[in-house]
Amino acid sequence: MQHTYDCIIVGGGTMGAAAAYHLAARGQKVLVLEQFDFIHALGSHGGQSRLIRKAYFEHPDYVPLLLRAYENWADLEHKTGQQVYFQSGILYFGAQGDTLLNGTKLSAQLYNLPLEVRNTVESKRQYPMFSGVPDDWECLFEPEAGFLLAEKCMRLHLQGAIQLGATLKAREKVVEWQESSTGNIQVTTDKATYTCAKLVLTAGAWSAQVLGGIAAPLKVTRQILGWAQPADYQSYMNGRMPCWAISDAEAGLYYGMPILQHEDTAGPLGFKLGCHKHGAVVDADHVDRSISAADEWTFRRCLEQYMPAANGETLSIKTCLYTNTPDENFIIDLHPASKNVVFACGFSGHGFKFASVVGEVLADLALDGATSLPIGFLRFNH
Ligand SMILES: Cc1cc2nc3c(=O)[nH]c(=O)nc-3n(C[C@H](O)[C@H](O)[C@H](O)COP(=O)(O)OP(=O)(O)OC[C@H]3O[C@@H](n4cnc5c(N)ncnc54)[C@H](O)[C@@H]3O)c2cc1C
Repeated sequence: MQHTYDCIIVGGGTMGAAAAYHLAARGQKVLVLEQFDFIHALGSHGGQSRLIRKAYFEHPDYVPLLLRAYENWADLEHKTGQQVYFQSGILYFGAQGDTLLNGTKLSAQLYNLPLEVRNTVESKRQYPMFSGVPDDWECLFEPEAGFLLAEKCMRLHLQGAIQLGATLKAREKVVEWQESSTGNIQVTTDKATYTCAKLVLTAGAWSAQVLGGIAAPLKVTRQILGWAQPADYQSYMNGRMPCWAISDAEAGLYYGMPILQHEDTAGPLGFKLGCHKHGAVVDADHVDRSISAADEWTFRRCLEQYMPAANGETLSIKTCLYTNTPDENFIIDLHPASKNVVFACGFSGHGFKFASVVGEVLADLALDGATSLPIGFLRFNH
């Protein structure tokens, strides 16, 4: 069995899969170590789909990275002949002067992104499922937005990496790594020891365990996703309605996407929605996956208040983990103790859409020690 690699990636989830793809494409001999099976429901990538949008209310500094992420997703689709991005557009609703809508407008303005100010009453007429949204709220529509098929994105990155020569090992947990005086890095798992020149740490909710002495300010929270059965099921199908986001004073942000055709995904059936507000702080190794009435209320409250016609039977409820930084900006950097180690963590519940560009950035940092992509605001201790 081979034990020496150019690059070892700790964590074969969203970001690790993308990094493996980019590093293997640059001719590196790559090993990806994943503690569970590849593509699983215990971390941050489960649940079928993820929103992707450009007019980023979180901060305009993300927009250049998003533009590159869109290019890289398109490139992945082109190379594989598979569709992962669905441009359904996204409708935003919020009270007059809402900060989320203002942030969306600011990013659109600064980067000249298409964003339509819509009449709320007209929008509700077009999409009657939003009947509970107050008529005097603002409504925006971003046409160049939609959703990604999450598990399929990861499958294509991982399959691509394998086809480019990468080795993937599942059910193998990294317990320790150490750099020798010659600069080689020894990685110890619960099964074996490997050596590499460059180490990439993409351990998601388990990052604190593998960061090698860095005290990154990460808080893992337990989040809920729900799938409901609306009364007029057909009107909620992809192609009939856009993705949506409702800014709510108490819940922060409710969001959701249209129902997917069964041929797009084998995931849960129904109308998916979630609430972006942080759930309970948890230890990633001891997450209660049972579902309570309070869990169900996190998304049912949105249906009751804003989308009463969609407030039908529950078809599925799943848990998922956010790994949050204090300001909800990601952390992507070289390790302070070693230029041969790079890490990416703290994706704070909004990182998936960036995976295609984060993979590129991690490959740049690992191989060149620098990247031309604008990640200054995401450096450690930003
Ligand atoms: C409910 C929910 C909804 C979301 N919605 C959106 C959205 O609409 N749009 C969006 O852009 N983002 C969204 N996100 C965020 C996005 O999914 C995450 O930011 C992203 O998946 C994080 O990727 P990651 O690689 O850090 O974590 P993961 O994908 O969880 O990968 C980390 C991997 O590392 C492995 N690992 C950890 N420690 C070890 C070890 N010691 N040895 C071996 N393997 C290890 C884990 O098992 C895991 O597979 C959402 C997240 C959640 C939970």
